[in-house]
Order: sequence, then C-alpha cells, then structure tokens
Amino acid sequence: MELQKKLHWYQNLNGLIIFLGILFPAAYALITYALPQQADNDLLQISYLAAGIAAVALLYGLFIYPKLHNQRPQQAITIGFLLIAAATAVQLHYSGGVTSPYLIVWALLIIASGIVGWHLVLLMAVVTNAYWALIALDIVEYDISSNRQILYMIATTLPIMVAFLIWMYSRASQHIQSVSGLSSDLSIEQNKSQFVLQAIEDAVIVLNEKGNIDYINPSASTMSGWQAKDAAGLSYTSMLNLQPILASEGFQDPIEKVYQSGKPIVADDFKLITQSGQEVMVGVSVSPLKESSTSEGAVVVMRDIGKQKAAEDRKNDFIATASHEMRTPIAQIKGYLELLANPNVIKLEPKALDYVNKSYKSADHLGNLFKDLLASSQGEDGKIQNRPDAVDMTALLREIVQGHDKKAQEKGIQLSFRQVSGPSDIKVISPNIYAYVDPERIRELTDNLIENSLKYTKEGSIDVTLGANKDILQIDIKDTGMGISVENSKHLFEKFYRVDSTDTREISGTGLGLYICKQIVDLYRGKLWVDSILGEGSTFHIQLPKLANTTALEMINRKKVV
Ligand code: ADP
Repeated sequence: MELQKKLHWYQNLNGLIIFLGILFPAAYALITYALPQQADNDLLQISYLAAGIAAVALLYGLFIYPKLHNQRPQQAITIGFLLIAAATAVQLHYSGGVTSPYLIVWALLIIASGIVGWHLVLLMAVVTNAYWALIALDIVEYDISSNRQILYMIATTLPIMVAFLIWMYSRASQHIQSVSGLSSDLSIEQNKSQFVLQAIEDAVIVLNEKGNIDYINPSASTMSGWQAKDAAGLSYTSMLNLQPILASEGFQDPIEKVYQSGKPIVADDFKLITQSGQEVMVGVSVSPLKESSTSEGAVVVMRDIGKQKAAEDRKNDFIATASHEMRTPIAQIKGYLELLANPNVIKLEPKALDYVNKSYKSADHLGNLFKDLLASSQGEDGKIQNRPDAVDMTALLREIVQGHDKKAQEKGIQLSFRQVSGPSDIKVISPNIYAYVDPERIRELTDNLIENSLKYTKEGSIDVTLGANKDILQIDIKDTGMGISVENSKHLFEKFYRVDSTDTREISGTGLGLYICKQIVDLYRGKLWVDSILGEGSTFHIQLPKLANTTALEMINRKKVV
C-alpha cells in the first residue's frame, strides 16, 4: 500500500523530469533554428550544455518509465533527478544566476527532492547555499542590491524547508503505516493462535513466571473441571494436581521440576485429579516459554490417554486370557504325542515316528510362545506376579544353574557357577548374597538367559557368576557362543526382536525372552545389558539392589519362628 503511494509520486516526478527534459532542448532548438531574432530573450536563451544534459535526462526518464515499479525505484528516480537538476543548475548559471527566471525551476526541484529522500534534500540545500556563499564571498559576482539578495535567499530557503517537511511527512506516514501493518499482522496471528488453542483437543495451560495461571483453553476446562474465569490468576497447584499412575517414592510434580530446572519435561504416566476428585490418565508436556528458563512462564499441555490405555488393557487382557486358555490343550497335545512316541505304548513305523517327533517340537514351540505371551502381557499391565522375600541369591543361582546341567552335558558345553569378588570395586562379601525379590521371577529371568546361552552356543563354556558390593549385586552370564553384532545389541530387548542370520534361523524362538527379562529387571529397578563380540561370545549382565545380610538373616529367622 505504502509502496504503491510512493511509486505514484515517483511517477509524477519522472513526469516532471521528462517535461523539463523536453523543455530545455525544445527551447534551445526554437531559439537556434526558428527564432534567432529572439536571441536576447532571457527565458529562451538556453545553454547548449543544459540542453544536452536535459536531453540525456529525457531519454533516461523515458527508459525508466515502464520499469519504475520493479527493482529499486528510489535509485532509478535519483539518477533522473540528478541529471535534470544538473541541467537546471547549468541553465541557471548561464541565464544570469540569481536573477534568472530559471530560479523558479530550481525551487521546484528543491521541493520535489523531498519526495525522493533526505539525501537529495541535503544535496539541493548544500548546492544552493554553496552558491549563495560564493556570491557572498564575491567569488561569483552579481550586481544586485542586498535587499534583493535577501529576497532571493528566502526564495530558495523556503523550498528547502518545504522539501524537508515533505520528507518528514512521508517518513512519519511510512512509520504509521508499518506500525499499523504490524499491529494488524499481530492481531491476525493472535486470532489464529486463539482459534487453534480453542479448537485443539489437548488441554493447554499457560502459566506466568510465578506459576500462576494466565490462560486455559476449553479442553483444559473440560478435562480439569475448572472454568477459565475461576482458574485465572490461581497458582497452578490449585488446578493441576498431577500424581504418578504407579505410586512411587520421591515423586516430584513435573511442573515444579520444570520451574526448578528450566528444562522441558515430557512424560506419559500421570493421573490428573480433577476439581470433582475424579482421576484422568494424562500424558503431560511442560515447557518453559523461554529457553532454559521459566522467567517468562511455562506452558503445560495434557493429553487424555485414558482411552488409549483402556484399549491397550483390553488387548493385553485378551492375550493373557487366550494364552492362559491355550496352555492346557497344548499340554494335552504334547502328552498324547509323547505317548505316541513311546515304543512301550505303541510301535510306529520310523517315518510315522519322525512325524510324531516333529509335531511334538511344534507343539512345544507353541507352548513356549503362549507362555512368553502371557508373561509379557502381564509385564505390560504392571501385573507381573511379584511376591518378594529375602532370597539367598547364591543358593538360588547355584540351584538354577544345576538345573541346566543335563542340557549342557548333552551339548558338550561346560556350565559353571561361582561367586566372585566381582568387577573392580566389588569385594567378596561372605558368605552368601541376598536380595529382596520374588525367587520365581529370578528363576524366570536367569533361566531365560542361560537357556539362550545354551541355544546360541555350539561349543565351549557358559560361566555364571555372582558378585556384590554394599548396595548392588551383579549376575554375569558369559558364553562362548555366536555373539551379537552392535546393531542387533541395540534392539535385543525389544518385543519380538530376533537376530536374523543363517546361524540363528535354524534355532527356534519367540523373540520375547529378553523382553520379559527386561520387564523383570525393571520391576526391581535394576539394570540389564549385554556385552558381545560377534563370533566370540556374549556376556549378559544383571544388576539388582542387594539386601544387607543382617536384614536378610533377620527376615529369614523371623519367618522361621512364625
Ligand atoms: P528368542 O526366543 O529368539 O531366543 P530372545 O528375546 O530370548 O528371543 O532373544 C532375542 C535374540 O537375541 C535371539 O533371537 C538371538 O538372536 C539373540 N540372543 C539372545 N541371547 C543370545 C546369546 N547368548 N548369544 C547370541 N545371541 C543371543
């Protein structure tokens, strides 16, 4: 809009340049060729040089006329202006200086300079005053009275002031235009964000630097039961009562955490206690409005994950029920197939016996799959059976390892268990190591890992070791098997992940074993990881919280007494 207005004025100025560009050469031609008898006429007596420069200005004016709207119009018009101003100055000097009638044209050009910019106004002012200075210093001589000189000075000073005013006005209007443009842009943006915030399904709460509520959107009102007008200005603690889904010690409100650290938080497992005391499962994201600081407040976004969780629960329930119900028929199938394969019960042709053995293997695989599915769905539900007790881990592990002896011997693999002084800072603690865990879960965990080692090791040995320091115990299961590549190690504990290689393809499995192991270790807030070199072997490490011997023995003795 502003640009259009400016362009309009530039076009007018270009018109003036073209007009003068025609006037000077035309007058020159007139006096030279048509009316030589008028050679003494002040007005018509045109300098050869002025006419020449004006002709150039004319050509230039015509050249830029169609292009003035594109590229840099201000620069283009400045060149045209300078050309015509030069022509006028030459003509002015030639036709009598301050007494020349062309002084009016000069005054007109001074005013027009205000349209283009301050630099031209300044230039015109400097040139004009320099001329007056030359006259005052008698360098340029004119035979005029000092009264007239003052009159002429006013006649040139006034246009300078007008030009300056024009420039000031155009600047101010440009400023006003850009401010009003900006504010209208801003209000459009504000409307847009307001619209998005109103329409969005997620709850959005904007807090100020003190943690008081600045804004809540309609979804936040619906979710929390708080009306926007009631919540405004309150501390977030009044409205946003966030609790962990699974009660945990040392829980800290995520918003408080962000206000303390200045770092954003995204977490899924919260319940929001609404105004009426109901619980809504929410995923929460809290971000400071300024990077690394809540000095300008924070924004809290909450998503109702209740429906999603309910769908997941239904899926897990279905898997759990189906896998549980499958166990009995599969056990029966396996039982009958075992009977069929027993030569004391029935004598089968070798080919038929082979079929029966293959069926037995498949039924066994199916049984394992359902067992693993049941365990993993329980883990996801947070329903892993857990009856923790003070457990003598040394004795338990020795017994578990012994349970795999037969299989190891069949494969010709050396299997051993020992208690060690442990890695680096871990010293042997006498004599046994205890933990507060469910022994069945530990059995499931270590069975899985030892079975894997047996499955994925062709020859060599499997060493199971147990060590501890004051607080932590560590179990290492080291084999000389096929090993795992770094890429595969990263995904090993994911659900259904199996390494696909020519070596592993032959070995049956579900890809759920390590996933279940991880869930068990997580249950006790422990750690599970693997170190492996492809082709050389793997070591699976488990760390669990240790139970102090005195506490463990006290607990065991108390049980004995009861
Ligand atoms: P699976 O039922 O396939 O054994 P797991 O979750 O127990 O499922 O193991 C996932 C994958 O990890 C396996 O398919 C196997 O390729 C690899 N793996 C696990 N333990 C070992 C091991 N001790 N040595 C080499 N590879 C292993």
